[in-house]
Amino acid sequence: MANSGRDYYQVLGLPRTASADEIKKAYRRLARQFHPDMHSGAKKTEMEKKFKEMNEAHEVLSDPDKRKKYDQHGTQWEQAEAYERARQAAGAQNRGQAHSFSGEGFSDIFENLFGGRGRAAGQHEFSSSGEDLETEVDLSLREVLRGVTKRINLMEPVPCSTCRGSGAVKNRPCQACLGSGHRMESTSIEVKIPAGVQNGTRVRVPGKGQLGTNGGRRGDLYLHVTLMPNKIFRQQGTDLHANLPVWPWEAALGAEVMAPTLTDAVRVKIPAGSRAESKLRLKGKGLPTAAGGHGDLFLTLQIVLPSPLTEGEQKLYEQLSHLRTGDPRAELLAAAQHN
Ligand SMILES: [Zn+2]
Repeated sequence: MANSGRDYYQVLGLPRTASADEIKKAYRRLARQFHPDMHSGAKKTEMEKKFKEMNEAHEVLSDPDKRKKYDQHGTQWEQAEAYERARQAAGAQNRGQAHSFSGEGFSDIFENLFGGRGRAAGQHEFSSSGEDLETEVDLSLREVLRGVTKRINLMEPVPCSTCRGSGAVKNRPCQACLGSGHRMESTSIEVKIPAGVQNGTRVRVPGKGQLGTNGGRRGDLYLHVTLMPNKIFRQQGTDLHANLPVWPWEAALGAEVMAPTLTDAVRVKIPAGSRAESKLRLKGKGLPTAAGGHGDLFLTLQIVLPSPLTEGEQKLYEQLSHLRTGDPRAELLAAAQHN
């Protein structure tokens, strides 16, 4: 394990006076927050690093012996430990065992061993921005059409009521908030999602990510938008597609029928002589486009046979079969011969 060089107390967000119980509690809380399984993508790699740092800090501070050394010698202790680790790692490599020891870790150790910058952990309190958070939001096509306000649950820091945000009670670290001055409270915010967002869009909510350290700015919250599949309308960019069932005589003679859209049903004209699978285009009945317009809705005609046939229908179909003498397969059969 490479030594991160960060101050262990800072990593766990604890004062140097923290009790063993406070260390345990902070470790448990952060383990939940940083656990790599709770994050995805680039976040996961970051969290893996934090998780490692946190484990390292806990390993030392939860061991009274190691903690005492760390408290007494600080950097000196780290150098001794780093030297010991480097020696062990070299030994392990000589024996041909796999041992992860990054180049970065080595250079840190050499800097510490041979003077170099002589970076003492905890001497400089750099502020750093809070992590960005990401959460999933599922939208229906109707919500995409009109835009929607979504309620998002998240953890928000609130000032600790025990120490009134100071982190200390009578010069002792506040037990309620472990000296941090705040508690995380579950809350919900409303986020307005504009009309026309596409599947996979990330909507940024500034300042709603994790807290920064030492006055660093708070991270942002990103909403990852997923469009939920719709039973009737298939989405393709800003266009929508749906099937429209028609009777054989509606396709043959033409008709005016009601067709569904994402909003209200509209009256559409089926042209006489429409073939099965032919498409009708309803302009502007799709999803909002970036240019401010709307995509189209395409209706695919499905010719459906009445079933079961009534006696009257049976007779009419029989009449049709006598009236039409041509063979619809004649062309196909001829073409197949010369194939
Ligand atoms: Zn407090």
